[in-house]
Amino acid sequence: MSERIPKIVVVGGGAGGLELVTKLGKKLGKKGKAEITLVDSTSTHIWKPLLHEVAAGTLDSHEDEIEYLSQANCSGFRFRMGKMDGLDRKNKQISLAPTINKEGLEIIPRRHFDYDYLVIAVGSVSHDFGIKGVKDHCLFLDTTKQAETFQNKLLQAYLRAHTQGRPLDEGQLNIAIVGAGATGVELCAQLYEVSHLLTAYGLDEVKPTDVKITLIEAADRILPGLPENISAAAHEELSKLGVEVLSGERVVEVTPDSIKTESGKVVPAPIKVWAAGIKAPEFLKDIAGLETNWMNQLVVRQTLQTTLDDDIYAIGDCCACKWQGHDENVPPRAQAAHQMASLVYKSIRMRMAGKEAPEYHYHDYGSLVSLGRYGTVGNLMGNLSRGSMMIEGLMARMMYLSLYKMHQVALFGPFRVLMLSLSHLFRRSVHPKIKLH
Ligand SMILES: Cc1cc2nc3c(=O)[nH]c(=O)nc-3n(C[C@H](O)[C@H](O)[C@H](O)COP(=O)(O)OP(=O)(O)OC[C@H]3O[C@@H](n4cnc5c(N)ncnc54)[C@H](O)[C@@H]3O)c2cc1C
Repeated sequence: MSERIPKIVVVGGGAGGLELVTKLGKKLGKKGKAEITLVDSTSTHIWKPLLHEVAAGTLDSHEDEIEYLSQANCSGFRFRMGKMDGLDRKNKQISLAPTINKEGLEIIPRRHFDYDYLVIAVGSVSHDFGIKGVKDHCLFLDTTKQAETFQNKLLQAYLRAHTQGRPLDEGQLNIAIVGAGATGVELCAQLYEVSHLLTAYGLDEVKPTDVKITLIEAADRILPGLPENISAAAHEELSKLGVEVLSGERVVEVTPDSIKTESGKVVPAPIKVWAAGIKAPEFLKDIAGLETNWMNQLVVRQTLQTTLDDDIYAIGDCCACKWQGHDENVPPRAQAAHQMASLVYKSIRMRMAGKEAPEYHYHDYGSLVSLGRYGTVGNLMGNLSRGSMMIEGLMARMMYLSLYKMHQVALFGPFRVLMLSLSHLFRRSVHPKIKLH
């Protein structure tokens, strides 16, 4: 009788989950040593740090998205589409909600999948902190669909302004972005670039100066999670571009046409983006009695196993893992998700061989913030710099680009990434620099 092979289920094919299943599939799935299943609520993957470019229109999401089914086929895992909404720890089974199409028709019924090892890698969503009006009047950048919605809205606002045949109303093209973390800051620079590109591509009844971008941050400076010199450099760059930066301003209400702050400021803006903090998806709160924190994150030990169940791991933005030697948890970043995926890959293999689960140590290599073609700033951490070293210019840009390349290499290997990069260069030489539909 053949031996039963372990079932490994990974939920969430994002920055961490997709790298993990690809590795597991290649090493275990293809050799028949384990059955690997990836579950995701969507059918394609896009690396989330690209979403602000999708929102601005400087990146066409279809160019960079990966079909899960195709990745599964080449990498030795199987893909099942569906949204996890339940967990039965006693019977070691997850449950996926039925998939309903736009017409309300059920296309995939509720399904259950058994696991021996479960890895939850469902990322995070924006946190509105219960502030009045945010959910109803702000746009978010949590998913490709939301980023595309933003892009459509921006383009429509431009087209309307270009064709209305009269001068623009006061503040007609104002954009307010709440949250001056990397996402908010990068989006500001992208939008500035877009305002120039759209005029150059013929929507010339609108002048780039008609678009007023305001960045609102509750902390006393932008990029509060990064060293002060980087924050100052980015602030200076944004001010040069004409972005109004309001720091130390806590948002208390969002209305259909404005943002109100605690100090009494009212920022008029028809387009508003919320990028001020994250939380793990709501369904994780109290799921199957596992320990979670105030942000719905699953609390994990240093091994990335959940505190109450050794066979359930959590990685990436949806987990709360103590950052050793620091007073805080490991930050929600792509580099953390990438490192966690590598650790869990190793852990599962070691446990299958009857060994102890290894511990995770987060290595912070620094952070980079891209201001589009106006520059890149960031810091390098670790052995290279003995502490934190600020970097700017071409070197910072190259390192910023290499983050995404590393993700692609983990999925496709170096040769295919080289081919992809070349084809991308050729495409760029004939396509416009911005998506115009
Ligand atoms: C605009 C933007 C810019 C960013 N820039 C940077 C940057 O420059 N550098 C950096 O380090 N980090 C950046 N980040 C953060 C980074 O993207 C995240 O830290 C990283 O993607 C987290 O990886 P993850 O694997 O935990 O989750 P994700 O990559 O978010 O993937 C989660 C996956 O889970 C799926 N999913 C969610 N819920 C369910 C469910 N119930 N059932 C099934 N599937 C589900 C989703 O569809 C998704 O595919 C940025 C984030 C954003 C939004």
